[in-house]
Amino acid sequence: MFADHPLSGNANPGTRHDYYERQKYLFAMVFVVVSIVPLLFLNYNASRFYQDSWIENISRELATLGADRREIIDRFLVTQENQLAGFMSLYKPEGLADNKRLELLLKALNSSGVITDLGVIDRKGRHLAYHGAFAKELAGKNYAATEWFAEVMNAGRHVSDVFGGYRQVPHITVAVADADRSLILRATIDLGKFFGLLKTANVGPEGDVFIINRRGELQTPSRLDRTGVTPDELVLFRTLAENNGATRHDKDRIYCATYLNGGQWLLVLENNMEASLASYHEARRLDTVRLAIATAVIILVAILLTYSMVGRLSRADRERSILTSHVGEVEKMALIGRLAASVAHEINNPLQLILGQAGLMSDLMESEDPGKVLYLNDYRKAIDKIRTQIGRAGTITRRLLGFSRAADGSFVDTDVNQAVEETVSLFEHEARRHRIVLVRHYQEGLPTVLNDPAQLQQVVLNVLHNAMDAIGQDGTIEISSRIARDRIIVDFADSGPGLTQEVMDHLYDPFFTTKPKGKGTGLGMYVSRDIMTRIGGELIASNRDSGGAIFSLRLPLSGVDYEKLTRLAFSY
Ligand code: ADP
Ligand code: MG
Repeated sequence: MFADHPLSGNANPGTRHDYYERQKYLFAMVFVVVSIVPLLFLNYNASRFYQDSWIENISRELATLGADRREIIDRFLVTQENQLAGFMSLYKPEGLADNKRLELLLKALNSSGVITDLGVIDRKGRHLAYHGAFAKELAGKNYAATEWFAEVMNAGRHVSDVFGGYRQVPHITVAVADADRSLILRATIDLGKFFGLLKTANVGPEGDVFIINRRGELQTPSRLDRTGVTPDELVLFRTLAENNGATRHDKDRIYCATYLNGGQWLLVLENNMEASLASYHEARRLDTVRLAIATAVIILVAILLTYSMVGRLSRADRERSILTSHVGEVEKMALIGRLAASVAHEINNPLQLILGQAGLMSDLMESEDPGKVLYLNDYRKAIDKIRTQIGRAGTITRRLLGFSRAADGSFVDTDVNQAVEETVSLFEHEARRHRIVLVRHYQEGLPTVLNDPAQLQQVVLNVLHNAMDAIGQDGTIEISSRIARDRIIVDFADSGPGLTQEVMDHLYDPFFTTKPKGKGTGLGMYVSRDIMTRIGGELIASNRDSGGAIFSLRLPLSGVDYEKLTRLAFSY
């Protein structure tokens, strides 16, 4: 991932920036993929699992509903049969076959209005007695040829399908025969009451519950207005009923079927899958919203984390490269310092020798006879010139030696005026060449401060360089020192163009320069401010009212706060 790390090659700041942009993107992507993909996978699995268990749930509910209804309806029918059987056993055959008796019985039986009429039929199928609304239609009828009559003579009991019968009105009859099959008591069940047993089954607005007979004919109305069932459905319902009221579902509907009335009927319950899964879908929708929020949070965290992480990395990287170049700068200065020191040393010896010889010549000249030496005065002048020039050369070498202390990096009692002047004087020649006047206003008698003069000199060097560059040709640089409360201030005021707002904003930024390529490094002010902080001082830039810039170096009189310096030194 880091194969193209910028520090492993000669990357310039542009490609370095691109590199970190790419890293940001890559990190964010990896973070998102690594956290969201498992989340989506889990969510998918969970949703499959929940759907399955949800369907299992609604299947179980439907099956329970079916079993309950079967129990209710079967008990209802058995209750009717048992009541009739009870009456049969109470009365002798001839006592029962009497309209008046039937009327009394019906009254006694029928507090709930389930049975609408009663009839007594003998073993030949003759209608012996009747009480109910259809007395006229049924008078004198013979049932010997009907299906239900055959059934009741055979099994002793029978519940009919819904049929028209002799009255051409749909009804169900319950018939019970006595033990020796001499007499049959038959009752008609109120269809409204019977259908009511299904109406209360709670299958929901899109569900249906109905009863069919073995041939698939509807015995009760269907809520969804079915007119019958298809042969395929009939096969399915039979299979479900044979499996003890099992359920089956396809994409659209779910079914449950169970046998009723001793296998004569099929109770069918069905429901719409969509409606049954409504609350499941609602839960899924909520889950999806939660998932979306979680995903958004993850992406946000990923972006924030990567940006702060990569940002920190790139900052550290930049600081390291600045430090590297800073160290290079300091090393360069130290090297120049050492070089200057050795050159000064080497030159000083022959100079002293020449001075000695000049002294000797001067002494010898005194003992000459003035009358015999033709150009005695000229010799004396020449020797004086040699002495003066050697004196000048000596000053320069001393200054060079002073500057060489830059390599020491140690804190000593420092005469600030002297330290500044040592550097300023090095610019004398250069300044003259550009017709720039260096004006000194050193305050006399400043106290010494405990500091590192070499470091201070490097700052002076940088500030003077900039001032000369800013002026170009013809101008002045005023150097002044003074004591103000607890510190010594050295100002460098130039007659250049001054500092624009843009320069002010970025003056101390590393690599900020307005100079042409090759001339400016943009490190001078960055390094200078850094040095000033390290030696416990300050560097402040401003503009003069009369135009031009002022760079103000401020050093504490109290010397150096070593604890603070140590902290600063270790902050890198
Ligand atoms: P460099 O000298 O290599 O450009 P510096 O950090 O020393 O870098 O200075 C940064 C910039 O500050 C310079 O390029 C220049 O634009 C501005 N600057 C510094 N000193 C002066 C000054 N005395 N007058 C005007 N501009 C200055
Ligand atoms: Mg500079």
